[in-house]
Amino acid sequence: MGTHEAPISHAVTSTEPRPETLPLPSWQAALQTAVREPGELLRLLELSPEALGAPADVSFPLLVPRGFVARMRKGDPHDPLLKQIWPDTAELEPAEGFTPDPVREQGLTAGGVIKKYPGRVLLIASGACPLHCRYCFRRDFPYAAQLAARADWSAALAELRNAGNAGEAILSGGDPLSLSNRRLGDLLARLADTPLTTVRFHTRFPIAIPERVDAGLLRVLRATRLQTVLVVHTNHANELDATVEKALTTLKPELAALLNQSVLLRGINDTAAALALLSERLFACGVLPYYLHLLDRVAGAAHFDVDEATAIELVAQLRSRLPGYLVPRLVREIPGELSKTPIA
Ligand code: SF4
Repeated sequence: MGTHEAPISHAVTSTEPRPETLPLPSWQAALQTAVREPGELLRLLELSPEALGAPADVSFPLLVPRGFVARMRKGDPHDPLLKQIWPDTAELEPAEGFTPDPVREQGLTAGGVIKKYPGRVLLIASGACPLHCRYCFRRDFPYAAQLAARADWSAALAELRNAGNAGEAILSGGDPLSLSNRRLGDLLARLADTPLTTVRFHTRFPIAIPERVDAGLLRVLRATRLQTVLVVHTNHANELDATVEKALTTLKPELAALLNQSVLLRGINDTAAALALLSERLFACGVLPYYLHLLDRVAGAAHFDVDEATAIELVAQLRSRLPGYLVPRLVREIPGELSKTPIA
């Protein structure tokens, strides 16, 4: 542990061989045809090569599905969706306190299971993501060594049983919805065979590739005895177009709870107006705002940082504009703490 390999995920579409004759499910096709070349992204957005400067040459490459690109404003280098995925050269500038493992979880991981919170275990279910968020605190996570899917989940399930009184499994990654419906169904069946009561998905798929919410996924969710909680990750209201709204409102009846977590990001959502609009749009899509995270200090993301005093002031402004249930909890992940730390 502690070495920083490039994540294995960054071109993964499926973990299973498929017969040549079968078409890919539309979400896998969307992932396969995602934009990976910075020049192509600039052309699609009608931006000159100078508009954003040369992309940073880093081991965490550009990955963005075309449907997400379609929600960006053409000709605007400051578009809040573009800024989340563009590898800016600011990533190359060293910043004090910004490290490859900011929440120090790599030492807590065994068999793809992270045990850092009492009563809950976190499974690294997949190393693949539907898009690459530049501020991701796991951008340097050694997925190749830490996938719970290895050995057909058996090492992960053994770790989970060792965890004693865990009532909830959190499926994370990468993104757990990058697993096929068959593999997800298999995992949920195995989890249902333990004393767990709840399974939680941390996923950006319904936002980045809403086609992921297909009939097969709904069947998998309906089939489990476990309570299912789904936490999506959205940072700006522009991410929530009609296709995403349809995906979320289709998912909602199959779930015990549908929540959102955001990261507070400089130049993207660091105004009360942007955050209020995000909460209102989420609610219109059937989603409750849950957490607003202060940035985890991962190397390469310092240019997104918003200081704590500004964040507290923003949330105070939200309280004066929105009903309480639309105000997310402002939190920071502090290594070694038993839960997220609320920022008052
Ligand atoms: S924030 Fe989520 S979707 Fe984005 S790169 Fe990280 S794990 Fe993947």
